[in-house]
Amino acid sequence: MARRGSKGFGSLTELVLAGRNPQDSFGFVNPPVIHGSTVLWPTVDDYKRMTGRYTYGRRGTPTSDALSDALRLIEGGDHVALVPSGITAVALALLSLLDAGDHLLMVDTVYEPTRRFCDSMLKRLGVETSYYDPLVGGDVSGLMRPTTKAVFVESPGSLTFEIQDVPAIAGAAHARGAAVVMDNTWATPLFFRAHDHGVDVSVSAGTKYVGGHADVMFGWVSAIGPYAGAVRATHGTLGLCVGPDDMFLALRGLRTLGVRLAHHQAAALRVARWLDSRPEVARVMHPGLESDPGHALWKRDFSGASGLFAIELEPGPDDAVAAFLDGLELFGLGFSWGGFESLAIPYDVRKVRTATSGVTGGPTIRLHIGLEDVEDLIADLEGGLERYADAS
Ligand SMILES: *Cc1c(COP(=O)(O)O)cnc(C)c1O
Repeated sequence: MARRGSKGFGSLTELVLAGRNPQDSFGFVNPPVIHGSTVLWPTVDDYKRMTGRYTYGRRGTPTSDALSDALRLIEGGDHVALVPSGITAVALALLSLLDAGDHLLMVDTVYEPTRRFCDSMLKRLGVETSYYDPLVGGDVSGLMRPTTKAVFVESPGSLTFEIQDVPAIAGAAHARGAAVVMDNTWATPLFFRAHDHGVDVSVSAGTKYVGGHADVMFGWVSAIGPYAGAVRATHGTLGLCVGPDDMFLALRGLRTLGVRLAHHQAAALRVARWLDSRPEVARVMHPGLESDPGHALWKRDFSGASGLFAIELEPGPDDAVAAFLDGLELFGLGFSWGGFESLAIPYDVRKVRTATSGVTGGPTIRLHIGLEDVEDLIADLEGGLERYADAS
């Protein structure tokens, strides 16, 4: 579903054009990668007036401008700040908005390191966090306090993939003067237009699909309106920046994000449907499936699904889960996702939830469907499920 951007182009065209001006790079298609800290002024007078576009490597380079301009165009926000990882993007967003004495409403299904940031550093700085059910919708207003400054959403939820009613939550938050912050890593701005759905500050782990090749770590924060200035100021105060070669890899990844996501989406849906038909699988957690409880909201608000989802198996022992996963040939066992390769990792969601029960049945496995042939992936999983059944 092509979305029309500010210049009337579709999102795939925007990905190709964004942050690039060959006339500024001697005609070369890609912008040069500037490695630099010191920027020189020709005279004392220039130095005193800080003439020129750049003043110091940390404060911006042609390479960081190319990447942040591209991401700003794709997000449709007012300002994009680049940071060294996704979790730094979360930290920057929250540190930009919250002061001692403030209250933060955090979704219970949030990425676990975000929870750790709130429960440790924000707590130490005098910000109180309370966790809410992802399915709360507009009733979030009942949880708000006079001190609530921000409501944080992550949709779908980490590990269990609940879809949140972001516009309803944003409506309730804005009515009380609170900001809405979203972790939009799963969908990327291509499949969920965060700012169009009431999100003021959107954070993303570029490490995942924008990088796309399991070889780069970076993140970004996109902000609108009055929040843009707060993010810009905090970013500068903290001195955050990204290495030039990592920004180059991010820009390169961006060009193919659309075609990669289209493949991840189609392949993951096929694998999810196949898994849904298997007797060893109790439940498939993928909002793109018609049977998923979040499907209607996903269809209303998202223009696509990425390659990450989870399954709950019929009850079985840990040894059987190990037999399933250890014997897989194509699925690697490791953190992160969004690369070209498929991944499978077991998790226990009960350890990372405090306001909801999460999954209470059989063992759960998170899958990332990469760019391999789908038939090969299904055959690999079929062998795994047979090993699981034999060992159960
Ligand atoms: C991976 C991830 C992050 C953190 O990204 P890093 O680059 O690993 O720090 C944040 N949010 C979500 C939803 C993620 O999946």
